[in-house]
Amino acid sequence: MTDHLIGRTVVVTGAASGIGTAYARACAGAGAALHLIDRDEAHLVEVAEELRGEGVEVTTHVADIHDADAIDSVFGELDGTVRIDAAFLNAGINAGASLRTADGEIDALDRETWRKVLDINLSGFFFCLQRTAAHMKRNHAGSIIVTGSTAGLRAEPLVSYAYAASKAAVHAVATQAALELAKYGVRINIIAPGPFNTNIGGRVERPAAKTRLWERSIPLGRWGDTRELHGLAVLLASDDSSFMNGSVVRVDGGATVLSQVRA
Ligand code: NAD
Repeated sequence: MTDHLIGRTVVVTGAASGIGTAYARACAGAGAALHLIDRDEAHLVEVAEELRGEGVEVTTHVADIHDADAIDSVFGELDGTVRIDAAFLNAGINAGASLRTADGEIDALDRETWRKVLDINLSGFFFCLQRTAAHMKRNHAGSIIVTGSTAGLRAEPLVSYAYAASKAAVHAVATQAALELAKYGVRINIIAPGPFNTNIGGRVERPAAKTRLWERSIPLGRWGDTRELHGLAVLLASDDSSFMNGSVVRVDGGATVLSQVRA
């Protein structure tokens, strides 16, 4: 427990699971009040109840981030009631298909999957960024943290075209925003995780073969635990990172040092 975020209000999208829940727990542990957004109401309520049990002030918002009207409605409510000090724009999905399977190869990838992944990971992220940036510009302060991916930085065999494209685009949008928002006192930084054992592939056990394949490509020899993002989340949400803007922080056990990195 630190006190770096006492008196601060933090928004997290995709807070009902995995990395988003970790960001929420970390910021709560540092004293923040939370506004948690997710489309999965049941798990969002579970996370909120757990945190409320620890005395954290939590408000939940059930919304699908690629529904622009729903996002406008959530942020309209926030605009009128709170001052958002930090926002983790984190919600995202994987495509299922990857280059390890025939249905992930370029000629086979179905267009519905392509559209869905881009709709959520890029357009949904962008709608949330627009509203967050507008809110923080008015306050002349704020820190935005975006969950990108090492898949947005380099080619990875277990990743689909749609997912890689969405994350590379998220990095581009976020760094572009870093250029604009700085003059308004708003910072934006990217966390690029390597493999973390979350529910992104569905609430199922991950196949052992896939786990081993990843582990062989990670110098630290294992997947990340979402608790290993806690310190970074608090750092980026707080004033301790006041000179960080447009940074891409890789949290990947060293995986990306093994190959040429595009950005
Ligand atoms: P997860 O599936 O455990 O959690 C994602 C959460 O986002 C879920 O609660 C889900 O309901 C929510 N969500 C998904 N689509 C949504 C939508 N349209 N509207 C609202 N909520 C939505 O997955 P995770 O691994 O915690 O993923 C979080 C972020 O981390 C994603 O952006 C993902 O691309 C990124 N990421 C994950 C890994 C990894 O290995 N787990 C690696 C790199 C990047």
